[in-house]
Amino acid sequence: MTKLPTRNLTKSNAQFQRAVKRLPLGVSSTFRYWGDDRTVYVHHGKGGRTWDIDGNNYVDYRLGYGPAILGYADDRVDAAARKGMEVGGVFALSTERELTVADRIAKMVPAAELVRFSNSGTEAVMAALRLARAHTGREQYLLVEGGYHGLFDAAMWMSNMDEWDLGSNTDPELVPYGKGIPPTIKQLAHITPMNDYERLEDMFRKHGDRLAAMLIEPIQGNCCSIMADPAYVRLARELCTKHGVMLIIDEVKSGFRVGKGGIQGLMGVTPDITTFAKAVANGYPIAVIAGREAVMRNFRYGGASHGGTYTAHSVSLAAAEECLRILDETPALETLAAYGEKLKAGISDILNARKIVHSYTGHPSMFGLFFAETPPDNYRAWKTSDYSFYDQMAYFLHDLGVIVEPDSREPWFMCEAHGLDATCLTDTLKAVETAVDLTL
Ligand code: PMP
Repeated sequence: MTKLPTRNLTKSNAQFQRAVKRLPLGVSSTFRYWGDDRTVYVHHGKGGRTWDIDGNNYVDYRLGYGPAILGYADDRVDAAARKGMEVGGVFALSTERELTVADRIAKMVPAAELVRFSNSGTEAVMAALRLARAHTGREQYLLVEGGYHGLFDAAMWMSNMDEWDLGSNTDPELVPYGKGIPPTIKQLAHITPMNDYERLEDMFRKHGDRLAAMLIEPIQGNCCSIMADPAYVRLARELCTKHGVMLIIDEVKSGFRVGKGGIQGLMGVTPDITTFAKAVANGYPIAVIAGREAVMRNFRYGGASHGGTYTAHSVSLAAAEECLRILDETPALETLAAYGEKLKAGISDILNARKIVHSYTGHPSMFGLFFAETPPDNYRAWKTSDYSFYDQMAYFLHDLGVIVEPDSREPWFMCEAHGLDATCLTDTLKAVETAVDLTL
């Protein structure tokens, strides 16, 4: 009989009890709270692994929600960041490296004619929406179910699941993610189910001429890496062009991960505005708003405001310069995608041997695992599917030294270091085998 795994979290549990007195939920991001007795405090990360303060070692497929594309504490990027420190941090002035990094981004992503830097994905998408509004003179915007675009008020809406009715052509009602989001904002927002062509056309027929922007994450990094059909994104592009709407492709998670040119490169769709963040600097805080010149020129006095004390911080910028150089000039992305393929194949061998039906979504560098023959093709299909097997398996995996999202919402993220350290694969597959047997 398979033995129940045990993991010593004595120090993390004690830290939680101390931390919760000062920090709400004992954490600095609500998503890092995994229960009073399972909230982990990290000692350090290196390569594809993380060590907690109890000394437990994990192969890490969270990678800080995706940023550590090369692996934690990458020597090359950290050396560059140290040089960036010598520059002095932030000034009320600009530095030369802003152009160097912007040029690299423009080379890798053809739609990035002009580039602006921000600090986080949330800030970048917020600025992108403002830019779209400034350019079009319109206020309304369209979201796609299952997308996530950060924590600002306009992005924190989902459709009311109680009212899902795929048959009708009425707009889904919007409900906020949690409290503190003014309901008045809802008047400006619309939402549509991904990969539903008819409803998209209907949405544009009804609201297209009042929309400033359509925001889409073609590979939903916050909904199990469910992918839009390329044809769906192409339809979005056509409808946006026809109605004068800015197509914003949010590549905060997929950018510089699924390919040098992002998911837009793989799908062959050119947005008006794109946002990047996570993988840009291997985890140093920096984000990017990029797009069509005529649109981006709205960032000016008397146009759309954008800036901030910490934008283009010298440490993040130097890290970005080196990280993007590596992603552009070395086979790092191929290495991590090949690792993802090997990992999927290994997991499938284990599951097939037990006749467990399963499937994958997304890209090998960020994939979702499902226990169904056909993976869901949008948020509704995922929400109404049975993900209990996955969730239970993930719970065991944590105890067995593999960090994945505790529910199936976020994909497994690969980094270059996973592919360069053969023990990551063997340790993961051993843990998966045990976790599956425990779950059965
Ligand atoms: N857009 C997408 C697609 C994201 O995945 C995220 C973060 N998970 C954001 C925006 C917000 O980024 P941040 O957490 O850096 O504010």
